Amino acid sequence: MNTSEQLFQRALSMIPGGVNSPVRAFRSVGGTPFFTKSANGARLTTADDQELVDFVLTWGPAIHGHNDPDIRAAVREALDRGTSFGTPNPLEVEMAELILSCVPAVKKVRMTNSGTEATMSAIRLARGYTGRNKIIKFSGCYHGHVDSLLVKAGSGALTQGNPDSAGVTPGTAADTLVAEYNNLPALSALFDANAGQIAGLIVEPFPANVGLILPDAGFLAGLRELCTKHGTVLIFDEVMTGFRLSLAGTQGLHDVVPDLVCMGKIIGGGLPVGAFGGKVEIMDKLAPLGPVYQAGTLSGNPLAMAAGLAAVRKLKAQNPYARLDVLGRRVRDTLLAAAQAKGIPLQVPQVGSMFSLYFNTEKVRNYDQAIASNGDLYRKVFRNALDKGVYLAPSPYETAFISTAHEGKDIDKSCEVLDAAVRAL
Ligand SMILES: *Cc1c(COP(=O)(O)O)cnc(C)c1O
Repeated sequence: MNTSEQLFQRALSMIPGGVNSPVRAFRSVGGTPFFTKSANGARLTTADDQELVDFVLTWGPAIHGHNDPDIRAAVREALDRGTSFGTPNPLEVEMAELILSCVPAVKKVRMTNSGTEATMSAIRLARGYTGRNKIIKFSGCYHGHVDSLLVKAGSGALTQGNPDSAGVTPGTAADTLVAEYNNLPALSALFDANAGQIAGLIVEPFPANVGLILPDAGFLAGLRELCTKHGTVLIFDEVMTGFRLSLAGTQGLHDVVPDLVCMGKIIGGGLPVGAFGGKVEIMDKLAPLGPVYQAGTLSGNPLAMAAGLAAVRKLKAQNPYARLDVLGRRVRDTLLAAAQAKGIPLQVPQVGSMFSLYFNTEKVRNYDQAIASNGDLYRKVFRNALDKGVYLAPSPYETAFISTAHEGKDIDKSCEVLDAAVRAL
């Protein structure tokens, strides 16, 4: 057994499944996970000293790559002043100013400790603000492990949702309606069938937790129209896409302004963070101003704020998005060319530094099409690439990320390895 296998064996007896978050267990690709002992730039070093070019990037946050020197310096400086105060601290004000300066829809913001807390709080706020109970989510969109969002579609298009996890009560799921992404007519019918009852609609504007799905032209604008018409709070869950697609997240690419935005991942610079913000009249319903309770012992934690400020300031200074898009296109084109040469049906949706692989003859526009893709082919590519030092997400239904630390040589090597992995199918 190598060191990772030994560590995993020890972990299995004490930690359920050996991991503190399920996808890390490699169940979707088989085998056992490697352990990482350090990470720098675009590369991870495993417990067995294998160097891997990393396209998972701690599931999104590490847009500057790992162990970024500016983030490290900011955390070190904050550390000298103490790890948590339980009072307001100056960095929270700087963080709020920075977020407001980047994301037009956000006029007020509150920090949380995770993306899950952000979506959970945004849903509660939408309900408290509207005085309504029901929410709409889309199948295939992931919003963290909030009870009311761990819901899958019911049998008919207009039925209530069903729990998607043991422990979520049918009562909780009943207030969540599940719609199909990229299907405005069905959504419109769902709104009509529940007129005056929908508090909020939550959506990943670019669903990135079932592979990557791109919104059809007009889809996001259609969401805005329907929500406005029905008095429903439109919530963009940009935990993944915020500061990843542009400084303004999706709003930098599409001229659609949501009522609330959830953030996380990148704004923590690798430390645990989330945030939600939006219109003043909605945000002012939060305690202590309003009746919607929301809190956190460590919310706005000075180390997390310092890391996040450094990460976002660096993005603002460098504006790397066009450069990242060039790298994303290059990887996409490499994969597509290899698949074409082999006559294998492969879709590679890509936006900026995000891409995924669907072994599918059709363009994937929704959840059903995504899960109809061939997972076995993905597993083979994943294994082959990992053996040669390139780490893609250990599941066919996760998105790959590129960082500003992926240099020419990392991308050259990765394209070579991915090309060979697809041609070996
Ligand atoms: C990661 C993610 C979450 C959950 O964030 P955590 O910090 O893992 O709780 C929510 N929404 C989206 C879109 C995400 O990608």
